[in-house]
Amino acid sequence: MNLIEVYNLKKEFVYGKELRVCALNSVSFSVKEGEFLSIMGPSGSGKSTLLQILGLLDKPTSGKYLFNGVDTSKLSDVELARLRNKKIGFVFQNFYLLPKMTLLENVKLPLLYSDIPRRMHNEMARRVIDQVGLTHRIYHTQDRLSGGERQRVAIARAFVTNPDLILADEPTGNLDSKSGKQVMDILYDLNTKQGKTIVLITHESYTANYGERILFLKDGRIEKEEAVKQRSKKEYFIK
Ligand code: ADP
Ligand code: MG
Repeated sequence: MNLIEVYNLKKEFVYGKELRVCALNSVSFSVKEGEFLSIMGPSGSGKSTLLQILGLLDKPTSGKYLFNGVDTSKLSDVELARLRNKKIGFVFQNFYLLPKMTLLENVKLPLLYSDIPRRMHNEMARRVIDQVGLTHRIYHTQDRLSGGERQRVAIARAFVTNPDLILADEPTGNLDSKSGKQVMDILYDLNTKQGKTIVLITHESYTANYGERILFLKDGRIEKEEAVKQRSKKEYFIK
């Protein structure tokens, strides 16, 4: 079963009357449930635009996007928001944690927008924080955390609602290599142990190789596709 199917996706940005940028052009591919797909490509090749569309944060100019078999163009904005909150978790290069909130409060945020009863929020947040190894920091704010720790909080926040899909846009882009590996190990575990479908954008081959397959984008098109022969292995133990 495919969780994601896109056909002939096109995204144009129009500046004023004359100038158009075609960020995506005739992009078609699918992602199976439980698959880990990496996307690589030079800066400006359309990677983030594609991820925004997959995450239902933006709509294509034309083409089709089926999420879990549902044609997303048929959904209202409210339905799209509900689907996004329930089924999709996001991780970005710049973490986007709220500065004045504790780690626990940051991780609980997506639960506030869900229909999960309030009384369960603390326990759910604590469980995922434990999984990324940050229980001892639960009442700290982000200024007390390193970049790698901040990204681990962002990952905990991304999967606290138990989504089917995790979308990560260069999650290791601002991290040193050791912290980057810790972050990738968590994503690897979410995929291999918890069956989460993951779509990851990265510049680094080593990071891309945590996935099972790599799509290469260039000038808004899929240039080629490769199966990963030897997946990068988990090197750090994080429970
Ligand atoms: P990548 O993530 O691969 O670096 P992007 O998807 O961010 O590439 O951008 C692809 C192209 O689309 C670039 O030329 C970029 O300038 C343009 N673009 C992206 N987002 C917007 C936007 N919101 N408005 C206008 N142009 C955009
Ligand atoms: Mg980008």
